[in-house]
Amino acid sequence: MGSKIVRIALNLRVTLDSHLFLPEMSDGSAFIGYRALWEWQDCCRKGTNMQQEDVIEFKGQLRGDLIEPTDVQYEKERRVYNAMIDRKPRLIAKCVDVADVMAALHFGHKHGLRVSIRGGGHNAGGLGVCDDGLVVDLSPIKYVHVDPATKTVRVGGGCTWGDVDHATHAFGLAVPSGIISTTGVGGLTLGGGMGHLTRKYGLTIDNLLAADVVLSDGRFVTASATENTDLFWGIRGGGGNFGVVTSFLFQAHPVQMVCAGPMLWNLEQAADLMKWYREFIVQAPEEINGFFAFLTVPPGPPFPEDLHFKKMCGIVWCSTVTLEQANEILEPLRSFRRPAFEFFAPMPFPMLQSMFDGIYTPGLQWYWKADFVKELSDEAIALHIKYGSDLPSLHSTMHLYPINGAAHKPRNDATPWSYRDATWSEVIVGVDPDPANTDHITAWAKNYWEALHPYGAGGAYINFMMEGEGEDRIRATYRDNYDRLVRIKAKYDPNNFFRVNQNIRPDADTMRS
Ligand SMILES: Cc1cc2nc3c(=O)[nH]c(=O)nc-3n(C[C@H](O)[C@H](O)[C@H](O)COP(=O)(O)OP(=O)(O)OC[C@H]3O[C@@H](n4cnc5c(N)ncnc54)[C@H](O)[C@@H]3O)c2cc1C
Repeated sequence: MGSKIVRIALNLRVTLDSHLFLPEMSDGSAFIGYRALWEWQDCCRKGTNMQQEDVIEFKGQLRGDLIEPTDVQYEKERRVYNAMIDRKPRLIAKCVDVADVMAALHFGHKHGLRVSIRGGGHNAGGLGVCDDGLVVDLSPIKYVHVDPATKTVRVGGGCTWGDVDHATHAFGLAVPSGIISTTGVGGLTLGGGMGHLTRKYGLTIDNLLAADVVLSDGRFVTASATENTDLFWGIRGGGGNFGVVTSFLFQAHPVQMVCAGPMLWNLEQAADLMKWYREFIVQAPEEINGFFAFLTVPPGPPFPEDLHFKKMCGIVWCSTVTLEQANEILEPLRSFRRPAFEFFAPMPFPMLQSMFDGIYTPGLQWYWKADFVKELSDEAIALHIKYGSDLPSLHSTMHLYPINGAAHKPRNDATPWSYRDATWSEVIVGVDPDPANTDHITAWAKNYWEALHPYGAGGAYINFMMEGEGEDRIRATYRDNYDRLVRIKAKYDPNNFFRVNQNIRPDADTMRS
């Protein structure tokens, strides 16, 4: 009988329109269906003044769907990229436009709900989703308008970088972004944004020209170099603290084909390679970018079978010059230590951008720790090799992303992103498909990080942090820019309505900084 009740409750599908509940049950037990519904309504009311009629009215105000725990798509919709995150929001508003975002924020305010903003859902700390609150899901706001005359790109707040790369590539253009195409434009941009074009064209925020923002009080404003300039400063690194960005305007650059791909070496050569790399990357031409990695070779093409599952070190290159010029730049490396394998070739930029998507698919367990790094000492290299040789799973890795070249040009206070003087952004990533390995990958990442942290520069890239790393870590990251961020937060979000993020409290003690 018990299992039958569970089955019936699970089979309950509640269809809502703005006026009416229509419970449909596959095996006809109206009583049990209504009971499940009643329990859910009761759960919704807890701690807020939200009634079922309010939800129905809210649904009528939205053009997009409003997903509730009783909806069949709820389980799928509450999931984010990192499968370690298991949060259960009360409502998920699939916003299709600015009006939907306004309605959602108004509803969240009125009913005292915790509100999270979801762009691409990639945040490893799961900051796009919240327990027991309202998810403002921007994924349906999906458009990319390229203006080839000005080389600018208008991007809807719910796009992924794959959407942008696809649209800009047709015009021979690209916007600097990250290395996985399924990552959201929203979270990546607001945190800074680094990837294959960082050394040539800077961080993503260095290419942001304007943004449309819905503030916590429902006002719609534009932030740019000429309008709401304090807000424009704040969103270029301050994360989702200030409002919901419904549209981004970027400067794009003439990038169509790149010469790019990984080179791999045996771990016995890792120390020599890291020492070579630390000298090379700080004085290399800006046309070439290369991030260093410890990795396990995936068991499939293009990798030769004898390397499958082998732990190796590597550099993933991206150059915007011709193959001949790129080979000239990399000739000293090939003569110094010939790679055991390389896949360095001319390719369309979107191909590079999605090269690792197939390995890092959504739904893996994911735990990472990060630091900015100024110098890579011999002692730090020895520790990297110790932990990098002991990767706990096929997907686990460590990356050193260069923060130099064009990314060094703006001053530390030009944007909140205050580590322009770092040389690398280091991220130690424990990843595995199997939930049973969660503790193992987490412990490895923590131990690796603890060993290397004393060699770091203090703070870490805000987008490479988990949730709850603490205010001190956030302060350490923003350094002298923290107080200014607090003032902007107090002006634009005085009640800390947007707090599901790497939070900058409007009432934070600025005397401490
Ligand atoms: C596989 C993988 C690869 C990555 N590679 C890179 C990389 O190469 N370079 C890099 O810089 N980073 C990289 N990241 C980190 C990435 O930048 C962050 O995870 C970022 O938070 C993802 O943005 P999102 O919109 O997908 O996230 P979400 O989980 O949707 O959102 C995260 C937070 O961002 C804020 N936010 C998102 N959209 C908006 C919006 N429109 N308005 C206001 N606030 C918003 C909110 O505070 C939200 O809580 C990577 C992450 C993963 C998982």
